Amino acid sequence: MRMRHVSALTGSVALFDAHPQDSAVSARQDAFIRSRDFDRPTMIFDLDMLRGKYRALAGGLGDASIHYAVKANPAPEVIGALLAEGAHFDAASRGEIDLCLSLGVAPEHIAFGNTIKRAADIAHAHSVGVRQFAADAEEEIYKIAENAPGARVILRMLVTASEADWPLTRKFGCSHREALRLMDLGRAVGLDVAGISFHAGSQMREPAMWAGALDGALALWEEARDAGHALRVLNIGGGFPAFYGDPLPETRAYAAEVMRMVRARFGTEVSVMAEPGRGLVAEAGVIVAEVLLVSRKDDDDLHRWVFLDIGKFSGLAETMDEAIRYQFETRHGDAETGPCILAGPSCDSADVLYEKRPVQLPLALRSGDRIRVLCTGAYTTSYSSVGFNGFPPLDSVFLG
Ligand SMILES: *Cc1c(COP(=O)(O)O)cnc(C)c1O
Repeated sequence: MRMRHVSALTGSVALFDAHPQDSAVSARQDAFIRSRDFDRPTMIFDLDMLRGKYRALAGGLGDASIHYAVKANPAPEVIGALLAEGAHFDAASRGEIDLCLSLGVAPEHIAFGNTIKRAADIAHAHSVGVRQFAADAEEEIYKIAENAPGARVILRMLVTASEADWPLTRKFGCSHREALRLMDLGRAVGLDVAGISFHAGSQMREPAMWAGALDGALALWEEARDAGHALRVLNIGGGFPAFYGDPLPETRAYAAEVMRMVRARFGTEVSVMAEPGRGLVAEAGVIVAEVLLVSRKDDDDLHRWVFLDIGKFSGLAETMDEAIRYQFETRHGDAETGPCILAGPSCDSADVLYEKRPVQLPLALRSGDRIRVLCTGAYTTSYSSVGFNGFPPLDSVFLG
């Protein structure tokens, strides 16, 4: 597999005096950014890059159906572009379902993939024609049976060990034994127990990292068959990676290899669905931000503190535990750099982006400088919105 170009200085710094050919920023984004002033952090998203990504991923995934995980970037422009490409959608909430419907997505192309759903939202989804629901618990099976009688249910399997950069283990899924019990229960209450799903973890840098989850899924699939459940749908979830500096296989080759691993285990009869989020949208976005302050806590300090106008609570939430390491570009090009602790602007001391592994930034960096945060098309605008995941913001009532 061919590797994409990696800049020598991981974590920082490329020139933007001239637009480099191998930049993560497209020529269109670059021209737009240069031509504008910004009075707040702004994400510039290139829909052509998204279309290119979709086609590469779809090419590699072959006959698998692609359900875009809306929460990664719920912009109507993104959903519209993917709809035009033929995508289906994975929704986490009633808000996301309604958003997809309002943009013309057919309800049978929307899966309600969150395993934790309000009963009234299940009823709503059912009433508008959504037919597929995820579950990983007994109460959820009863909720679905009551509010979406006869619906298709996909049981989510726990993935215990993930090599992903942003693991989604623990919170979602259940053990094999529990899944088998829920299959029996689902059938008993009149649901169509159609298959199983898992999420191997977000940002799986190599196809080989999928082996463990796929082996687990196959074991469960066979146990289900032995217990009399003729499953037909395998949902391999998301996890397709984006380029944050570490080398990655090309998108199409990566997806094709994952599908080869799936077919080697499950054969060609099984209907496969995938739910990419990050892998589709991350690389198409770049955030333009501003340096608010560069300081040293003491004249002798080796590290500078660099404060940006964007932080953990305004879009860069995935820097939590320094899990996702964004790359930065400044106007200082490849000038000499030094280690920086990078922090956001809010008055919360948790709003530090990178400290354990400081970021190399130009010594010439000053307050007022623009800084570009690369590959930020996924999980940025959605995290910073009032209504993350399509859930309404906290309501309030003032008495008195
Ligand atoms: C978030 C999510 C996805 C997308 O994951 P990525 O790692 O961004 O591709 C897919 N499926 C489900 C159920 C999710 O919750």
